[in-house]
Amino acid sequence: MTSERLTAVRQWMEAEGLDAMLVSAAPNVRWLTGFSGEGLLVIDSGALICTDSRYALQAGEEAPGIECVADGNHLEQAIVRLQAADHERIGFEAGAVTYANWQTLNERLDGALEPCPDRIKHLRAVKDEGEIELIERAATIADAAFTEWREALRPGITEREAAFELQRLMVLGGAEGASFEIIVASGPNGAKPHARPSERVIGESELVVVDWGAVVEGYCSDCTRTVLTGAPDDRQREVWEAVREAQRAALAEVRPGADCRKIDQIARDALREHDLAEYFGHGLGHGVGLQVHELPRLSQSSEDTLEAGMVVTIEPGVYIEGWAGVRLEELVLVTDDGSRVLTRAPYDLT
Ligand code: ZN
Ligand code: ZN
Repeated sequence: MTSERLTAVRQWMEAEGLDAMLVSAAPNVRWLTGFSGEGLLVIDSGALICTDSRYALQAGEEAPGIECVADGNHLEQAIVRLQAADHERIGFEAGAVTYANWQTLNERLDGALEPCPDRIKHLRAVKDEGEIELIERAATIADAAFTEWREALRPGITEREAAFELQRLMVLGGAEGASFEIIVASGPNGAKPHARPSERVIGESELVVVDWGAVVEGYCSDCTRTVLTGAPDDRQREVWEAVREAQRAALAEVRPGADCRKIDQIARDALREHDLAEYFGHGLGHGVGLQVHELPRLSQSSEDTLEAGMVVTIEPGVYIEGWAGVRLEELVLVTDDGSRVLTRAPYDLT
């Protein structure tokens, strides 16, 4: 599997006229080799993982077929390898190399460096069957943990305690951990789309935005529900229903060939029907895989097109300062003829 991925990158390197490629972004190194520790990857006619003694055993286990040096400074090892051949053009990930490292590389490699757009990130956007299975397993664990957590949720505990409990249930259910810091945002805190769980005590009849995900073998899930601790008032129900409607409208458009910007627009238009579009500030969704936020992007400025094998979120939200927030998020697989929702956490508001 990883050898096929390396082949795909080498084909791209050949088309770009690159003799070698220095891969620095950790998720890219992992995707290409299986190695999940700290280090760099050099791709030339072969492949070399540059790490240190802390990860020597791990690299051998995770990337058995790939050459590895683990005796010191990662960058120095990569430079030694890159200097060994007379490369004219060496690609590097412009978004993943620090300025200090770039200076060192540039001095030692004699102007052979070529900044590259993150092609590997684009390749990672389309998942293979094994990756889809892991993401689905992560989603299933996260759904089961949420279902149990939801039944026990009562006013009177803090957001932080509630988030910790949800994480605990995911780990007991088989997750490596949470795929990001769980969001439990109650009452007015819900107006901050990425609120951190606080000491705030969850009150009676409050909307609570819960955004959580599990990790299985490095692969993430991502899901949001907005629940209520008590009976909803008219406004709470109206906004929640409007967000659900916007989400349904967008989900119906998910299929290969669909324009990501247009899907975002459809959700925005549905909220506009309820005069709520102005409260939806962020993009509609994003790809999910080894990282919880990856390509493609579903937003007003996106130029991405959906392809079969992509796994994306659809997460419209309404955030009203001083009142509360409502966000609903599904994780969706783009299939050959449409889509399949991977998250199955219960949807009821109360
Ligand atoms: Zn999320
Ligand atoms: Zn998300």
